[in-house]
Amino acid sequence: MKKLYWIETYGCQMNKAESNALIQKMTEYGWEPADTPDQAELVILNTCSVRATAESRVRGRIGYYKSLKKKHPHTLVLMGCMAERLKDTLKAEEPSIDLVVGTFQKEAFLHTVLDPCWESSSSEGLNLEDQGSYRFASKHSLEGEFKAFVPIMHGCNNFCSYCIVPYVRGREISRSPEEIFQELTDLQQKGVQEIILLGQNVNSYRYEGEGILLDFPGLLRRIVKEFPHIGWIRFLTSHPKDLSDEMIRCLEEIPQLCKHLHLPVQHGSSPILRRMNRKYTREEYLDLVEKIRNRIPEISLTTDILIGFPGETEKDFLDTVNLLETVRFDDAFTYYYNPREGTQAYEMEDSVPRSVKLERLGKIIDLQKRIGKENKEQRIGHRVKVLVEEVSKIKNTELLARTERDEMVIVPGPQEWIGKFRWVVLTELKGNTFLGKCV
Ligand code: SAM
Ligand code: SF4
Repeated sequence: MKKLYWIETYGCQMNKAESNALIQKMTEYGWEPADTPDQAELVILNTCSVRATAESRVRGRIGYYKSLKKKHPHTLVLMGCMAERLKDTLKAEEPSIDLVVGTFQKEAFLHTVLDPCWESSSSEGLNLEDQGSYRFASKHSLEGEFKAFVPIMHGCNNFCSYCIVPYVRGREISRSPEEIFQELTDLQQKGVQEIILLGQNVNSYRYEGEGILLDFPGLLRRIVKEFPHIGWIRFLTSHPKDLSDEMIRCLEEIPQLCKHLHLPVQHGSSPILRRMNRKYTREEYLDLVEKIRNRIPEISLTTDILIGFPGETEKDFLDTVNLLETVRFDDAFTYYYNPREGTQAYEMEDSVPRSVKLERLGKIIDLQKRIGKENKEQRIGHRVKVLVEEVSKIKNTELLARTERDEMVIVPGPQEWIGKFRWVVLTELKGNTFLGKCV
């Protein structure tokens, strides 16, 4: 009989990469994906803990699986950051969960639950061994994909005062170049066109061992030399405090590096940045942006903004508005502050009322929408290279493609173009998406 699984992934790209790795392993062990959750013997929720909203979505799904279980028995497994954060209490609170897999228990999970001899009834009282340190899987993409996530780091040492990540993912470790190159060799052989190197702060990548010392620019230069058939390389995320001159030189000199930099600023007020423990001031961030733009004028800059941090005054907020107006980012992920238990900021008074947080966030979103649109309008008439990703959801004679600056373009064309590079002229802007013509 077929062993069927269902997996739901929440949160960041790292979680997506880890879910892909798990799917690869499950396939090796003879598991197959179910078409709907009610067919599955094993249900896995790969969770996020960065904001309370991410956790409440998962709580909703646990409720759903609890009622589904009455009709269709299955093993419900929680993994990811929420599982790590609440691993001591979650099972008692939510008895419908059979297994909570912490960040450092993933290998034990693979060896026990995915083993062909495993019976779902044996998860009762199962204690997964802690492997002590994080180990990277060997593959993080699914068969047939033409763009692939490649984790190069895990964890974080920065302890931004609002952020739960260092507590649930542990200290930063850099993956060995040997492992990275093995994964890239496989991806290049399969014809993968684009890779996205992942880490909470890729600029602090540093591998020491086997007589070598490699930093992130060094790693990038080796990747482009050894993997010439991978067309585009992206990376996420860059902490502004660690973006070196050598890194800017790489962006300037290496054609395969996409001219897009996600550089989260979080806030526009230096006193707030200090309390966030970001380790740069507003002025230092603005100087960095100027330096990058002087060297690479065509680069697209995007950011994260976190509004409503404890103690944020109207002036601090207006400084953030002013920073957005000054930098004119192409896009921004905008959030309002959620206190996370265990972080430094949790000890500070959450002084900005929710209504004010929402009002300020609304203003930031509207401003950024206007700026993003104005920036995009300047791009009409440009000839750009795109990677074609999928058939458009609106018309099946049109395709959805992405530029190296991470802009979406609709182009008429045959489905055979999917997974291939094409040159297009941007002719019109519809909402956030360009219309393009192949040239
Ligand atoms: N490592 C990345 C960096 O340094 O920018 C960010 C990773 S974090 C998981 C993604 C984003 O979530 C952050 O940039 C921040 O804006 C947001 N975030 C983190 N903690 C938050 C909190 N307590 N409340 C709301 N948003 C938060
Ligand atoms: Fe969180 Fe800061 Fe680490 Fe990013 S750099 S994961 S925001 S602690």
